[in-house]
Amino acid sequence: MKLGLFGGTFNPIHCGHIKAAEQIIKKIELDKVCFIPSNIPPHKEENELADANQRFKMVELAISGKHKFGISDYEILKNEKSYTVDTLKHFKEKFPTHELYFIVGHDIFNRVQTWKDYKDLFELSNFIVISRPGFSDKDDELPLAIKDDFRYYKEDSEIKFYKHKSSKLLIKTQIKGLEVSSSEIRELIKSKKPLKELVPLTVERYISNNNIYA
Ligand code: ATP
Repeated sequence: MKLGLFGGTFNPIHCGHIKAAEQIIKKIELDKVCFIPSNIPPHKEENELADANQRFKMVELAISGKHKFGISDYEILKNEKSYTVDTLKHFKEKFPTHELYFIVGHDIFNRVQTWKDYKDLFELSNFIVISRPGFSDKDDELPLAIKDDFRYYKEDSEIKFYKHKSSKLLIKTQIKGLEVSSSEIRELIKSKKPLKELVPLTVERYISNNNIYA
């Protein structure tokens, strides 16, 4: 079983997240993608962070009916800062026979050297680094801090594979996604502008019914 793990604040989840996950499932032939809303993100100064249960509920609504999508409450229930290395250890322990693929946008991944125990990440899971629409990724290289631990492995229909010394893969690929961010959604809501199908309708209704971000 090839299991994708998609971590994020999801404040709120938007169609860019959903589209990216759908494309990655197809491109990398994953069996499932599990969304993992973070409790307290270590790298974000969020004064507009919605309640963790509400962010969880919005992800649930967004993925409802999509059989290849799932959600984990692991980080939310921990009730402390969410570090990817701890989450990966948890999933590895829980699903010892699954092949794990942590999915992350290149905008976030380019600062991987600031993550807790970042050298250990690539012993625990494969990584899929996606080009995020609207963010430039001129640099085809891996971040300097991890570069020497990988060797270029192969390229296959616009998917670049790097192999870590642990033999786990780092996969870099472009997606035809949607240029949208959660900050943009929060701004639109604050200024009472229409969300223009940037978030699933069920999520839009939930935000409005619960008066989130207003
Ligand atoms: P914010 O605007 O509040 O910073 P965000 O839109 O970046 O939020 P996150 O929940 O922080 O959303 O993102 C979770 C993951 O999804 C990150 O790895 C990020 O790079 C990726 N991501 C976010 N938006 C998109 C998008 N439109 N297309 C592809 N990947 C995305």
